[in-house]
Amino acid sequence: MSGISRRLGVAGAALTAVAVVASPAGAGSAVAGTGCFDRAREPYTSQVDSHLHFRPFGGQAIPFEELTGYLHKSGVRHASMYGIGQMLPVNSNCTYYLNCPGTPVVPSMKNDFANAENYVGTKPKDPELAVSMTFMDLNHPETIPPGIALYDKEFPGVFRWAGEVNLVKQALFPNHHTPATSENIKNWAPFMKVLRDRGIPITIHSDLGSDAEQTKYLHLMEETLRLYPRNKIVWAHMGLSKELTTMDPDRHIGIMKRLLDEHPGLTLDLSWRVLEDSYFSKPGVRQKYAAFLDRYPTRVIPGTDFVASRDKDYHVYEQELEVTSRINKALDDRAFRDIALGENYYRLLGLKESAPEVCRAG
Ligand SMILES: [Zn+2]
Repeated sequence: MSGISRRLGVAGAALTAVAVVASPAGAGSAVAGTGCFDRAREPYTSQVDSHLHFRPFGGQAIPFEELTGYLHKSGVRHASMYGIGQMLPVNSNCTYYLNCPGTPVVPSMKNDFANAENYVGTKPKDPELAVSMTFMDLNHPETIPPGIALYDKEFPGVFRWAGEVNLVKQALFPNHHTPATSENIKNWAPFMKVLRDRGIPITIHSDLGSDAEQTKYLHLMEETLRLYPRNKIVWAHMGLSKELTTMDPDRHIGIMKRLLDEHPGLTLDLSWRVLEDSYFSKPGVRQKYAAFLDRYPTRVIPGTDFVASRDKDYHVYEQELEVTSRINKALDDRAFRDIALGENYYRLLGLKESAPEVCRAG
Protein backbone atom coordinates (compact mmCIF):
# COMPACT_ATOMS: atom_id res chain seq x y z
CA MET A 1 0.00 0.00 0.00
CA SER A 2 2.64 2.52 1.00
CA GLY A 3 4.84 1.40 -1.89
CA ILE A 4 2.04 2.18 -4.31
CA SER A 5 1.28 5.58 -2.83
CA ARG A 6 4.98 6.40 -2.85
CA ARG A 7 5.22 5.60 -6.54
CA LEU A 8 2.10 7.68 -7.18
CA GLY A 9 3.72 10.51 -5.25
CA VAL A 10 6.75 10.39 -7.52
CA ALA A 11 4.53 10.32 -10.61
CA GLY A 12 2.60 13.31 -9.25
CA ALA A 13 5.80 15.26 -8.69
CA ALA A 14 6.93 14.48 -12.25
CA LEU A 15 3.59 15.69 -13.65
CA THR A 16 3.87 18.89 -11.65
CA ALA A 17 7.35 19.51 -12.99
CA VAL A 18 6.11 19.04 -16.56
CA ALA A 19 3.17 21.38 -15.96
CA VAL A 20 5.44 24.09 -14.57
CA VAL A 21 7.76 23.86 -17.56
CA ALA A 22 4.83 23.91 -19.98
CA SER A 23 3.22 26.92 -18.33
CA PRO A 24 5.79 29.38 -17.01
CA ALA A 25 3.14 31.68 -15.58
CA GLY A 26 1.34 29.00 -13.62
CA ALA A 27 2.33 27.94 -10.16
CA GLY A 28 0.86 24.58 -9.28
CA SER A 29 -2.53 25.30 -10.79
CA ALA A 30 -2.10 22.97 -13.70
CA VAL A 31 -1.31 19.92 -11.58
CA ALA A 32 -2.16 17.12 -13.99
CA GLY A 33 -3.81 19.73 -16.19
CA THR A 34 -6.99 19.92 -14.10
CA GLY A 35 -7.16 23.71 -14.14
CA CYS A 36 -8.07 26.31 -11.61
CA PHE A 37 -9.94 26.33 -8.30
CA ASP A 38 -13.54 27.50 -8.75
CA ARG A 39 -14.63 29.29 -5.58
CA ALA A 40 -18.27 29.29 -6.67
CA ARG A 41 -18.41 25.49 -6.84
CA GLU A 42 -15.74 24.19 -4.49
CA PRO A 43 -15.63 24.32 -0.66
CA TYR A 44 -14.41 27.38 1.19
CA THR A 45 -12.92 25.23 3.94
CA SER A 46 -9.14 25.44 4.29
CA GLN A 47 -7.07 22.75 2.55
CA VAL A 48 -4.32 22.88 5.18
CA ASP A 49 -4.56 22.62 8.96
CA SER A 50 -1.47 24.18 10.47
CA HIS A 51 -2.69 23.80 14.05
CA LEU A 52 -3.94 20.34 14.91
CA HIS A 53 -3.32 18.54 18.20
CA PHE A 54 -3.12 14.81 17.51
CA ARG A 55 -2.79 14.17 21.25
CA PRO A 56 -5.15 15.17 24.11
CA PHE A 57 -4.36 16.77 27.49
CA GLY A 58 -4.88 13.38 29.10
CA GLY A 59 -6.85 10.18 28.55
CA GLN A 60 -7.45 8.40 25.25
CA ALA A 61 -6.63 9.92 21.85
CA ILE A 62 -8.50 9.44 18.60
CA PRO A 63 -6.50 6.69 16.84
CA PHE A 64 -4.04 8.00 14.24
CA GLU A 65 -5.61 6.30 11.19
CA GLU A 66 -9.05 7.52 12.21
CA LEU A 67 -7.86 11.12 12.52
CA THR A 68 -5.98 11.13 9.21
CA GLY A 69 -9.22 9.73 7.75
CA TYR A 70 -11.04 12.85 9.06
CA LEU A 71 -8.54 15.07 7.23
CA HIS A 72 -8.81 13.13 4.01
CA LYS A 73 -12.60 13.15 4.11
CA SER A 74 -12.81 16.89 4.80
CA GLY A 75 -10.40 17.87 2.03
CA VAL A 76 -7.47 18.84 4.26
CA ARG A 77 -4.37 17.92 2.26
CA HIS A 78 -1.65 18.87 4.68
CA ALA A 79 -1.49 19.29 8.46
CA SER A 80 0.96 20.02 11.23
CA MET A 81 0.97 17.20 13.72
CA TYR A 82 1.14 18.85 17.14
CA GLY A 83 1.36 17.09 20.44
CA ILE A 84 0.03 19.18 23.29
CA GLY A 85 1.97 21.79 25.23
CA GLN A 86 0.35 20.94 28.53
CA MET A 87 -0.16 17.41 29.77
CA LEU A 88 -1.98 16.27 32.85
CA PRO A 89 -0.19 13.82 35.14
CA VAL A 90 -0.73 10.17 34.22
CA ASN A 91 -2.40 9.50 37.57
CA SER A 92 -5.02 12.21 37.00
CA ASN A 93 -8.57 11.43 35.94
CA CYS A 94 -8.92 14.75 34.11
CA THR A 95 -9.17 15.06 30.35
CA TYR A 96 -9.29 18.88 30.32
CA TYR A 97 -7.09 21.06 32.49
CA LEU A 98 -9.81 23.69 33.05
CA ASN A 99 -11.82 21.08 34.98
CA CYS A 100 -8.93 20.47 37.36
CA PRO A 101 -7.56 23.70 38.81
CA GLY A 102 -4.60 22.99 41.05
CA THR A 103 -3.46 19.99 39.03
CA PRO A 104 -0.11 20.95 37.50
CA VAL A 105 0.18 20.64 33.71
CA VAL A 106 3.56 20.61 32.02
CA PRO A 107 4.96 20.07 28.52
CA SER A 108 6.01 16.50 27.89
CA MET A 109 7.89 14.39 25.34
CA LYS A 110 5.35 11.57 25.57
CA ASN A 111 2.95 12.86 22.97
CA ASP A 112 5.71 13.85 20.53
CA PHE A 113 7.06 10.31 20.67
CA ALA A 114 3.58 8.88 20.13
CA ASN A 115 3.09 11.16 17.12
CA ALA A 116 6.50 10.34 15.65
CA GLU A 117 5.92 6.58 16.08
CA ASN A 118 2.56 6.80 14.34
CA TYR A 119 3.98 8.93 11.56
CA VAL A 120 7.00 6.78 10.71
CA GLY A 121 4.80 3.68 10.80
CA THR A 122 2.71 4.85 7.86
CA LYS A 123 4.10 8.12 6.40
CA PRO A 124 0.74 9.07 4.88
CA LYS A 125 0.74 11.07 1.62
CA ASP A 126 -2.84 12.34 1.67
CA PRO A 127 -2.93 14.09 4.01
CA GLU A 128 0.78 14.81 4.31
CA LEU A 129 1.89 15.60 7.85
CA ALA A 130 4.59 17.76 9.43
CA VAL A 131 5.44 16.26 12.82
CA SER A 132 6.03 18.92 15.48
CA MET A 133 8.14 19.19 18.64
CA THR A 134 5.72 20.25 21.35
CA PHE A 135 7.77 19.32 24.42
CA MET A 136 9.58 22.64 24.69
CA ASP A 137 9.27 24.25 28.12
CA LEU A 138 9.95 27.92 27.42
CA ASN A 139 10.44 28.62 31.13
CA HIS A 140 13.30 26.07 31.20
CA PRO A 141 15.04 26.66 27.88
CA GLU A 142 18.22 24.87 29.01
CA THR A 143 16.29 21.58 28.69
CA ILE A 144 15.41 22.14 25.02
CA PRO A 145 18.68 21.53 23.07
CA PRO A 146 19.27 18.15 24.79
CA GLY A 147 15.64 17.28 23.99
CA ILE A 148 16.15 18.08 20.32
CA ALA A 149 19.33 15.97 20.36
CA LEU A 150 17.35 13.03 21.73
CA TYR A 151 14.70 13.46 19.01
CA ASP A 152 17.45 13.59 16.37
CA LYS A 153 18.80 10.30 17.66
CA GLU A 154 15.45 8.52 17.90
CA PHE A 155 13.69 10.03 14.89
CA PRO A 156 16.25 11.64 12.57
CA GLY A 157 14.71 14.11 10.14
CA VAL A 158 11.13 13.46 11.29
CA PHE A 159 10.36 16.70 13.16
CA ARG A 160 9.72 19.65 10.82
CA TRP A 161 7.75 22.03 13.05
CA ALA A 162 7.90 23.29 16.64
CA GLY A 163 4.92 24.10 18.84
CA GLU A 164 2.41 24.91 19.86
CA VAL A 165 4.46 26.05 22.85
CA ASN A 166 3.25 28.36 25.61
CA LEU A 167 4.93 31.70 26.24
CA VAL A 168 1.98 32.95 28.26
CA LYS A 169 -1.38 31.19 28.46
CA GLN A 170 -3.72 32.66 31.04
CA ALA A 171 -6.06 29.66 30.92
CA LEU A 172 -3.27 27.61 32.49
CA PHE A 173 -2.58 29.92 35.43
CA PRO A 174 -4.71 27.78 37.83
CA ASN A 175 -2.56 24.80 36.77
CA HIS A 176 0.73 26.34 37.92
CA HIS A 177 1.74 27.82 34.55
CA THR A 178 3.58 31.15 34.75
CA PRO A 179 4.54 33.41 31.83
CA ALA A 180 8.06 33.04 30.46
CA THR A 181 10.22 35.93 31.63
CA SER A 182 12.44 38.30 29.62
CA GLU A 183 15.39 36.40 31.05
CA ASN A 184 13.91 33.10 29.79
CA ILE A 185 13.39 34.58 26.31
CA LYS A 186 17.06 35.63 26.12
CA ASN A 187 18.05 32.11 27.03
CA TRP A 188 16.11 30.65 24.09
CA ALA A 189 19.02 31.58 21.82
CA PRO A 190 20.60 28.09 21.50
CA PHE A 191 17.41 26.30 20.48
CA MET A 192 16.17 29.17 18.33
CA LYS A 193 19.44 28.85 16.40
CA VAL A 194 18.76 25.15 15.77
CA LEU A 195 15.28 25.97 14.46
CA ARG A 196 16.67 28.79 12.30
CA ASP A 197 19.43 26.63 10.82
CA ARG A 198 16.85 23.98 9.90
CA GLY A 199 14.19 26.41 8.66
CA ILE A 200 11.71 25.04 11.23
CA PRO A 201 8.74 27.29 12.07
CA ILE A 202 7.72 27.64 15.73
CA THR A 203 4.10 28.29 16.74
CA ILE A 204 3.94 30.25 19.98
CA HIS A 205 0.85 30.67 22.11
CA SER A 206 1.23 34.10 23.67
CA ASP A 207 -1.87 35.82 25.00
CA LEU A 208 -2.04 39.54 24.26
CA GLY A 209 -3.84 40.14 27.54
CA SER A 210 -7.25 39.90 29.19
CA ASP A 211 -10.44 41.93 28.80
CA ALA A 212 -9.35 43.99 31.80
CA GLU A 213 -5.73 44.46 30.67
CA GLN A 214 -5.78 43.98 26.95
CA THR A 215 -2.10 44.34 26.08
CA LYS A 216 -0.62 43.23 29.39
CA TYR A 217 1.62 40.59 27.75
CA LEU A 218 2.24 42.18 24.35
CA HIS A 219 5.79 43.09 25.40
CA LEU A 220 6.73 39.40 25.70
CA MET A 221 5.91 38.68 22.04
CA GLU A 222 7.61 41.91 21.00
CA GLU A 223 10.75 40.91 22.86
CA THR A 224 10.68 37.51 21.15
CA LEU A 225 10.33 39.07 17.70
CA ARG A 226 13.05 41.63 18.43
CA LEU A 227 15.55 39.03 19.68
CA TYR A 228 14.91 36.44 16.94
CA PRO A 229 14.31 38.38 13.71
CA ARG A 230 15.48 35.55 11.47
CA ASN A 231 13.31 32.80 12.95
CA LYS A 232 10.00 31.73 11.40
CA ILE A 233 7.68 32.70 14.24
CA VAL A 234 3.97 31.87 14.09
CA TRP A 235 1.73 33.69 16.56
CA ALA A 236 -1.09 31.36 17.58
CA HIS A 237 -4.61 32.84 17.42
CA MET A 238 -3.19 36.32 16.74
CA GLY A 239 -2.82 36.59 20.54
CA LEU A 240 -6.59 36.32 21.15
CA SER A 241 -8.19 33.93 23.64
CA LYS A 242 -11.24 33.24 25.77
CA GLU A 243 -9.75 35.69 28.27
CA LEU A 244 -9.71 38.46 25.65
CA THR A 245 -13.00 38.55 23.74
CA THR A 246 -13.89 42.25 23.85
CA MET A 247 -10.92 44.02 22.29
CA ASP A 248 -11.72 46.73 19.74
CA PRO A 249 -11.01 45.06 16.38
CA ASP A 250 -9.40 48.25 15.02
CA ARG A 251 -7.01 48.30 17.94
CA HIS A 252 -6.17 44.62 17.54
CA ILE A 253 -5.67 44.91 13.78
CA GLY A 254 -3.51 48.00 14.33
CA ILE A 255 -1.15 46.04 16.60
CA MET A 256 -1.00 43.12 14.14
CA LYS A 257 -0.17 45.46 11.23
CA ARG A 258 2.58 47.20 13.16
CA LEU A 259 4.22 43.92 14.15
CA LEU A 260 3.92 42.44 10.64
CA ASP A 261 5.53 45.59 9.23
CA GLU A 262 8.34 45.56 11.80
CA HIS A 263 9.03 41.80 11.75
CA PRO A 264 9.18 40.07 8.35
CA GLY A 265 9.67 36.68 10.05
CA LEU A 266 6.25 36.84 11.74
CA THR A 267 3.28 34.79 10.51
CA LEU A 268 -0.19 34.93 12.10
CA ASP A 269 -2.19 31.78 12.90
CA LEU A 270 -5.98 32.05 12.47
CA SER A 271 -6.76 28.85 14.36
CA TRP A 272 -9.34 28.31 17.12
CA ARG A 273 -13.06 28.96 16.82
CA VAL A 274 -12.85 31.66 19.47
CA LEU A 275 -11.71 34.03 16.69
CA GLU A 276 -14.91 33.43 14.70
CA ASP A 277 -17.20 33.28 17.72
CA SER A 278 -15.89 36.35 19.54
CA TYR A 279 -14.63 38.55 16.69
CA PHE A 280 -15.24 37.72 13.00
CA SER A 281 -18.94 36.91 13.47
CA LYS A 282 -19.79 40.24 15.11
CA PRO A 283 -21.54 42.85 12.94
CA GLY A 284 -19.09 44.78 10.77
CA VAL A 285 -16.05 42.98 12.14
CA ARG A 286 -15.59 40.32 9.44
CA GLN A 287 -15.08 42.99 6.77
CA LYS A 288 -12.42 44.69 8.88
CA TYR A 289 -10.42 41.48 9.29
CA ALA A 290 -10.92 40.46 5.65
CA ALA A 291 -9.56 43.84 4.49
CA PHE A 292 -6.59 43.37 6.82
CA LEU A 293 -5.89 39.83 5.56
CA ASP A 294 -6.30 40.93 1.93
CA ARG A 295 -3.61 43.53 2.59
CA TYR A 296 -1.22 41.00 4.18
CA PRO A 297 -2.12 37.88 2.16
CA THR A 298 1.28 36.19 2.52
CA ARG A 299 1.54 36.50 6.30
CA VAL A 300 -1.24 34.25 7.60
CA ILE A 301 -1.94 30.51 7.92
CA PRO A 302 -5.18 28.69 8.84
CA GLY A 303 -5.86 25.97 11.40
CA THR A 304 -8.58 24.35 13.50
CA ASP A 305 -6.91 23.93 16.92
CA PHE A 306 -8.81 20.64 17.15
CA VAL A 307 -7.68 18.50 20.11
CA ALA A 308 -7.97 14.77 19.38
CA SER A 309 -9.46 13.43 22.60
CA ARG A 310 -11.49 10.23 22.25
CA ASP A 311 -14.79 11.84 23.24
CA LYS A 312 -14.88 13.56 19.82
CA ASP A 313 -15.71 12.19 16.37
CA TYR A 314 -15.56 13.25 12.72
CA HIS A 315 -18.47 15.64 13.06
CA VAL A 316 -16.64 17.70 15.64
CA TYR A 317 -13.58 18.02 13.38
CA GLU A 318 -15.75 18.87 10.38
CA GLN A 319 -17.55 21.53 12.39
CA GLU A 320 -14.36 23.11 13.76
CA LEU A 321 -12.91 23.19 10.24
CA GLU A 322 -16.08 24.83 8.92
CA VAL A 323 -16.27 27.44 11.69
CA THR A 324 -12.58 28.39 11.48
CA SER A 325 -12.89 28.61 7.67
CA ARG A 326 -15.84 31.03 7.53
CA ILE A 327 -13.46 33.97 7.31
CA ASN A 328 -12.15 32.49 4.02
CA LYS A 329 -15.42 33.39 2.27
CA ALA A 330 -14.75 37.09 2.85
CA LEU A 331 -11.21 37.04 1.41
CA ASP A 332 -10.23 38.20 -2.05
CA ASP A 333 -8.84 35.60 -4.47
CA ARG A 334 -5.21 36.31 -3.69
CA ALA A 335 -5.63 35.95 0.08
CA PHE A 336 -7.91 32.94 -0.39
CA ARG A 337 -5.26 31.10 -2.39
CA ASP A 338 -2.41 32.10 -0.08
CA ILE A 339 -4.25 31.28 3.14
CA ALA A 340 -7.08 28.78 2.53
CA LEU A 341 -5.54 26.84 -0.36
CA GLY A 342 -2.27 26.54 1.53
CA GLU A 343 0.28 28.56 -0.46
CA ASN A 344 1.67 30.30 2.66
CA TYR A 345 1.78 27.06 4.60
CA TYR A 346 3.68 25.27 1.83
CA ARG A 347 6.17 28.12 1.55
CA LEU A 348 6.70 28.35 5.32
CA LEU A 349 7.49 24.62 5.44
CA GLY A 350 9.71 24.81 2.36
CA LEU A 351 7.58 22.29 0.46
CA LYS A 352 7.72 22.09 -3.32
CA GLU A 353 3.94 21.84 -3.33
CA SER A 354 2.00 24.83 -4.57
CA ALA A 355 -1.67 25.82 -4.24
CA PRO A 356 -3.93 25.90 -7.31
CA GLU A 357 -4.72 29.26 -8.87
CA VAL A 358 -8.23 30.59 -8.28
CA CYS A 359 -10.35 30.72 -11.47
CA ARG A 360 -11.07 34.25 -12.62
CA ALA A 361 -14.65 35.25 -12.03
CA GLY A 362 -16.57 35.71 -15.20
ZN1 LIG B 1 -3.65 24.86 20.06
